[in-house]
Amino acid sequence: MKTAAPKLLIDAMLGSLARRLRWLGYDAAYRNDLPDEEMIRIAREEDRLLVTRDRALAGRRGVRALYVTATAVEDQVREVVEAVGPSLHPPRCTVCNGELVPITAEEATPLVPPYVAQTQTEFVRCTRCGRVYWPGTHWPGLQRWRE
Ligand SMILES: [Zn+2]
Repeated sequence: MKTAAPKLLIDAMLGSLARRLRWLGYDAAYRNDLPDEEMIRIAREEDRLLVTRDRALAGRRGVRALYVTATAVEDQVREVVEAVGPSLHPPRCTVCNGELVPITAEEATPLVPPYVAQTQTEFVRCTRCGRVYWPGTHWPGLQRWRE
């Protein structure tokens, strides 16, 4: 039986990693403005795995943490995926980590540039921030999900 990957809390300095993980369908919250104690509190309260490049923070008691060693984001993604397993979920909003739901072309038309409305037929919208995505170069991960 497949099990879903854990929810993640991405530490400061890893914003690019957070966006990439969201493309891949991971629930990846990102905070870059909080002290360690707050990060630990959020990770515990929201049952998230803390992903950090701070070895001391990763070693703290009372929090599940993953210490990422790579500096290149592609390698960081690989480290996380190897540690927690593949995401079994569709992409999430890269901006705010919200869930994406399909909308019709009619609904999308007033929300996207005219050339996009004319050339695209499939759209998803973030339930949290309202951002609209469509397959193609705008978001390669979405294309892969739909294939
Ligand atoms: Zn969003």
